[in-house]
Amino acid sequence: MKRVAILGSTGSIGSNTLRVIAALGNRFKVVGLSAHSNVALLLAQAKKFGPKWICLAEAERAREAKARLPASCRVFIGRDGLADLIQESNADIVVFALAGAEALLPLLQAINMKKTVVLANKEALVIAGHLIMPRVKQNNVKLLPVDSEQSAIWQCLEGRQKSELKKVYLTASGGPFKNRPIQRLKKVSVDKVLRHPRWNMGRRISVDSATMMNKGLEIIESIWLFDLALPQIEVLIHPEAVIHSMVEFIDGIILAQIAVADMRIPIQYALSYPARLKNNLAPLNFFKLEKLHFQRPDTKKFPCLRLAIQAAREGGSLPCVLNAADEVAVDAFLNKRIDFSRIPEIVARVTQGHKKINHPSLAQILSVDAWARAEAKQIIS
Ligand code: NDP
Ligand code: MG
Repeated sequence: MKRVAILGSTGSIGSNTLRVIAALGNRFKVVGLSAHSNVALLLAQAKKFGPKWICLAEAERAREAKARLPASCRVFIGRDGLADLIQESNADIVVFALAGAEALLPLLQAINMKKTVVLANKEALVIAGHLIMPRVKQNNVKLLPVDSEQSAIWQCLEGRQKSELKKVYLTASGGPFKNRPIQRLKKVSVDKVLRHPRWNMGRRISVDSATMMNKGLEIIESIWLFDLALPQIEVLIHPEAVIHSMVEFIDGIILAQIAVADMRIPIQYALSYPARLKNNLAPLNFFKLEKLHFQRPDTKKFPCLRLAIQAAREGGSLPCVLNAADEVAVDAFLNKRIDFSRIPEIVARVTQGHKKINHPSLAQILSVDAWARAEAKQIIS
């Protein structure tokens, strides 16, 4: 039985991870759970799965939880608390399901502790892939992707040499505004943005899918995970979202990973790897699909994708600035402080105002991240 800690268990990926674990019976034991502030859901999860280690981002919420948990349960607080939870729970697998750049430090710590990492969080790789990937190698740990596209590429590449790979097709559903004319994108409501046609996800990634920033972040994520060069990555709009990505080899053969659009599938694969386990999810029905469509992305209509590609090309500290500015702009949009069309404008202004550092250290990444957030906030206010 593998011991699993889930950071960000109250979110969309975290809750789905618990559903997968519950459905797989006795293979996994949940030893640690964490949330930002959703105490009610965290307590309900703790009651069902019985972890002995819990973490909340703030002290007040942690006290609230502590009062309602059994005395045998340790409650940690904040970023350092996440590292303590990973250490003390003696987890074999740590699932990174928390949103945002906040995942970076605990991720580095989990790698140093030689844990198997199941990674849904893409922000950490985007901002500091150059620090994370060498540590993964040095510590000889497994970093297993959950993001559906990255899971697809990983599966298609398994057992292959890097020299055999030509390119990857990173598929994208196109989000809720694929067919909306550019003139009508300025004032779209938060509700419409959160209603994704194919996936039910957390709030930030839903907005990022609507602006296509998410695909841009995934380009950078793929570069680090699979050691790709930017020209090897082609974004392909595929609205049916059944092909989760494809790999083309030098002999012209293309492998695609196909499944229903349900995050429990890549989550389960990362948890059970290298085994494949049976589940109760409805299989894909090709006869109901009829047609699959493919299109080139429109970077004029979705400037965030263009900005992310530029950040991927330039590298250094730029992806960190891109992500931080986007996190702040998306938060302002979700709180109805800015229009949808201002998200790329803010990201562009912050990235343009940044003097790139070529090989940023961890301290420089953290300070660039803080600078970009402050800049974005100032532009918004
Ligand atoms: P959610 O917003 O649904 O969940 C985020 C989780 O992280 C919650 O448990 C939240 O706690 C916690 N959290 C948020 N901020 C902090 C913080 N500062 N410190 C500690 N914990 C925090 O996000 P998703 O599940 O959608 O996404 C999680 C990650 O997975 C993201 O990086 C996303 O890009 C990636 N991903 C998600 C996919 C999806 O289908 N949802 C698909 C592919 C990748 P609380 O509930 O208390 O706020
Ligand atoms: Mg994805």
